[in-house]
Amino acid sequence: MVHEIATYADGKILEWKWSSNSPLMPKLFWTSCYLVDQLLIDCGAPGSVEEMNAFLTSLPPDQVPTQCFLTHAHEDHVGTGSLLVDKWHIPVYAPPESIERLLQGWSYRAYRKITWGETGVIGFSANPYPGDTLSTEHYSFHILPLPGHAPDLYGLIEQDQGWAFVGDLLQPQYQQLFGRGLYNPIDPVSEDIQILRNPWRNCMNSPRESRRFRSSWHISRFIKTGKSFAFG
Ligand SMILES: [Zn+2]
Repeated sequence: MVHEIATYADGKILEWKWSSNSPLMPKLFWTSCYLVDQLLIDCGAPGSVEEMNAFLTSLPPDQVPTQCFLTHAHEDHVGTGSLLVDKWHIPVYAPPESIERLLQGWSYRAYRKITWGETGVIGFSANPYPGDTLSTEHYSFHILPLPGHAPDLYGLIEQDQGWAFVGDLLQPQYQQLFGRGLYNPIDPVSEDIQILRNPWRNCMNSPRESRRFRSSWHISRFIKTGKSFAFG
């Protein structure tokens, strides 16, 4: 297994990346989680439990997560939930529509076990999001529904900082973090908006793609205006 750590925004955001290094995989498939102000955003794949435990153990006490936010219930984003809840007693917040599924846990096909771990998702008790916002000591995040990649995908937007944590919303790039001073500028979101405005291109997109672009538009609009809207 391989893992890497990177920091952004003058060290305010820490990215923890993990990948299996099975020889059966043609390349590394990374999954990321982010630690900002003792808030952990997503928690890696089931196969990363040992490395996640070592990472948490290595943190100074004032940086250990006090809460975890899951963007969506795919195995590469929720895989160490049972470790967080049962061993570290860290409350985990998850999409309300996925609470029951997370409690049960699930297995997945063999090729995904090679990538994300043999155990499957071990069930754990998550809490529904506390409301439309989530606060840390220094930041306030808005929780926005961003369906497209997954029906239960939600993003975290820190409007004052201009940060957007968007899970796997913007495939195929798999970029998960956008904003001022970060390695991913907000421009790709703006490009999606241009495509959204092109009716010909929009017609050719699948409904799933249309939802993805609409979600991108939602983020950009929210950062600029602070106004949200309801998804139909
Ligand atoms: Zn996903």
